[in-house]
Amino acid sequence: MSQSPSLARPRKLKHVGIVGAGMAGLYAAYRLKLSSYPGIVVSLYELDGRVGGRVKTYHFTSEKDQYFEAGAMRIPSTQMHQPTFDLINFSKTPITPTSILYLIISPPPTITSTRAGSSSCVLTKSHSVPTWNLLDGHNQSLISPETMCSQTNQFALSFSELIMQNLDFDTKQWFTLEEGMDRLPQALAGVVGMNNITFGARVQKIEQNGDGVTICADTPRGRVEKTFDKVILAIPPSALRMIPERPRWDYRKEQAIRAMFYEALYKIGLRFKTRFWEHVEPPSLGGQSMTDLPIRWIVYPSNGIGSEGPGVLLLYSWNTDASVWSSIPFSERLKNSLCHLSKVFPSVDIYNQFIAAEDLAWSEHNPTGDAMFLPGQLSEYFDIARRKEGDVYFAGEHLSRHHTWITGAIDSARSTAEEVIRDFAFKRIPTGWIPRTGTEPSDHYDPEAHRMEVIKSGLENIKNNREEFEKSVLLNSL
Ligand SMILES: Cc1cc2nc3c(=O)[nH]c(=O)nc-3n(C[C@H](O)[C@H](O)[C@H](O)COP(=O)(O)OP(=O)(O)OC[C@H]3O[C@@H](n4cnc5c(N)ncnc54)[C@H](O)[C@@H]3O)c2cc1C
Repeated sequence: MSQSPSLARPRKLKHVGIVGAGMAGLYAAYRLKLSSYPGIVVSLYELDGRVGGRVKTYHFTSEKDQYFEAGAMRIPSTQMHQPTFDLINFSKTPITPTSILYLIISPPPTITSTRAGSSSCVLTKSHSVPTWNLLDGHNQSLISPETMCSQTNQFALSFSELIMQNLDFDTKQWFTLEEGMDRLPQALAGVVGMNNITFGARVQKIEQNGDGVTICADTPRGRVEKTFDKVILAIPPSALRMIPERPRWDYRKEQAIRAMFYEALYKIGLRFKTRFWEHVEPPSLGGQSMTDLPIRWIVYPSNGIGSEGPGVLLLYSWNTDASVWSSIPFSERLKNSLCHLSKVFPSVDIYNQFIAAEDLAWSEHNPTGDAMFLPGQLSEYFDIARRKEGDVYFAGEHLSRHHTWITGAIDSARSTAEEVIRDFAFKRIPTGWIPRTGTEPSDHYDPEAHRMEVIKSGLENIKNNREEFEKSVLLNSL
């Protein structure tokens, strides 16, 4: 005989603590909290005073289009990024098509040829070597694509990272969120419940004990301490490493936490009296320009094209090109940016146009940048870095195979949340365990298998159409 609801034995609540309210922490919370098992309670601890982590929109004023993306800014329209689009659809955040059309601008980069000497060896050698080793004897020809692709020393990274990025940046159709990418984490936080997030909380201690895992965090209202059944650490390795009191795990895990490579990223947003870039010859209506000047990329806003009044330009650099900005104070960064922009737009009085600026050198903040592994790191650290330790679990962009994108953070959080549910020994992970929107990715979506599939087909393309590939790598690869 079935029990009436009022007589049913109450299920013992399971408490999960999540450190970090970036996309990974929020998505893990969303998956756990909205499971059809009402027995999971989540609490998030976030260092910052806002959600989103590396999804961060800076608004100069509250007027329309007066912002720039200091973090994530666009999403390529491919299957690999479907989880991000699914989440956007679910949160009903409006999107705008954006463009990353590449325009090489004057003064011209020091490139005379857009073709490398040879890339025929790429299919036959190990992937776990710096990419420039794959192009023996063609170092000079590699400097050119590096310059064009605006990441100095990019070819020191792992070959498979570069293939992945090339596949992403080869995408023709891109989208961004109207009025700022940070609307996505904010929408997610609304679903998770703002009252479940403790802001300004720097987690200082993690301790596994008989009852579960205890977290201690310093908050504006003093130290808080709570014990959870399970804890998910959704923070970058640099942040994890700097938690003063935490367990020391397997030496290979500790090595992974120390070594997983992050590239520096620098962005400065500049507000001008007019959208002058839309009125020069040739006009830039969205898209971006590249130069070998220190400013490297000029990103033209896709929002508000053709509108009157002030507009915001973004300058963006990566890797070694980003690191140089950290070495000078903000006043010098601004001087440098305006000076170089004047060279690019000689017909515009940049200084007269200028209103305000704001910047973010990610290397000065706890994530330090985005994960871009060095040769061999993916095979060496991927499994061990993700592996749970007792009741402590790990999530984040760096633990996915799709680094540097929101989709990676989502993929990783999704599999970690499912692992937590499995380990609570609930009888099943129901297929309908989140509100069905018709847009959620299939529960069987396997990002790892997908990445390998994409790389395989990318390599197949190279083989079949080397000419085309060389052209696209040289023009579009990051
Ligand atoms: C400049 C830039 C451009 C990018 N461009 C794009 C793009 O165009 N498209 C795209 O899809 N992706 C882009 N990305 C990547 C994307 O933003 C990230 O992959 C994703 O947001 C990472 O999410 P995460 O949750 O793994 O990490 P994070 O966003 O870093 O979240 C970690 C959170 O943990 C918190 N935290 C850290 N330490 C502690 C502690 N001790 N206690 C409590 N909390 C702590 C942090 O404050 C942060 O909120 C970009 C990133 C950057 C930096």
